[in-house]
Amino acid sequence: MSAITTRRIPAVVTLLALLALTACAVSPGHATHARQFTAAQPTPSAPAPTPSASPSATAKPAFKSLAWYVSQVPTFPEAPQPQPVPLPTTGSAPFWHRLPTDQKVAFITIDDGGLARPPGVIDFIWEARIPVTMFLNSPAAAEHTDYFRQIEAVGGIVENHTINHNSLAGRSYDYQKQEICGAADRLEGLFGKRPTLFRPPFGEHDSTTLKAAHDCGAKAVFHWTETVHEGKVRYQTPEKVIQPGDVLLMHFRPALMDDLLAALKAIHRAGLTPALLEQYVR
Ligand SMILES: [Zn+2]
Repeated sequence: MSAITTRRIPAVVTLLALLALTACAVSPGHATHARQFTAAQPTPSAPAPTPSASPSATAKPAFKSLAWYVSQVPTFPEAPQPQPVPLPTTGSAPFWHRLPTDQKVAFITIDDGGLARPPGVIDFIWEARIPVTMFLNSPAAAEHTDYFRQIEAVGGIVENHTINHNSLAGRSYDYQKQEICGAADRLEGLFGKRPTLFRPPFGEHDSTTLKAAHDCGAKAVFHWTETVHEGKVRYQTPEKVIQPGDVLLMHFRPALMDDLLAALKAIHRAGLTPALLEQYVR
């Protein structure tokens, strides 16, 4: 079943999305998508009317329709050329709340995958060129692979969030490795690429987590600096403004469209541009 063929979206978008899916089938790696995505990001091909364009009443998109969400997305400064951050060679993955960078970018991450998967998100990500990293639990990824593959096809990247979503802090190395490597193995099997980033459930971790994550192929372990829920950004830092390198956390929940839009507006207010985490951690 393909939601692409059933959703009512402009034909050109359908064609482009299908082309992207075709490219995915031919070349399962992510580099193609990422390059295509980055090149397209500053100038979305779909004309996105802005509120200031004052369209006539009849042309105004229906509230909370896909066109409405796209119309609400601010125009961002062009993303800088990514400068990947140095990674430690200690045998453990680094743990970061925000990416250590001064570049004027922030990162959108979406977690879990089992609770809700709003179908409009796929087109929204495509039309607004939203860079997203998905930290998935492997059973949810296995059960809803088609959905996450479609987000991959429009530029999203799948990363690791364990199998069972249990807190890892204080657990044995063997337990943590099973949760992290087990999910990485499954995600690699489903999506053709082994995750390179890891987010521990609830952000709870210890030094064993960072060692196990490294041993399972993770280059970095990420917490977050803001959460977004039901269209509201909650800052975890005293500045109450998004900083360069900040990582915004949201979830696959029913209000994900609102959460994405709220994150984009907050990033724009801070004078930053959304970027893809994987282009900075290589
Ligand atoms: Zn989670």
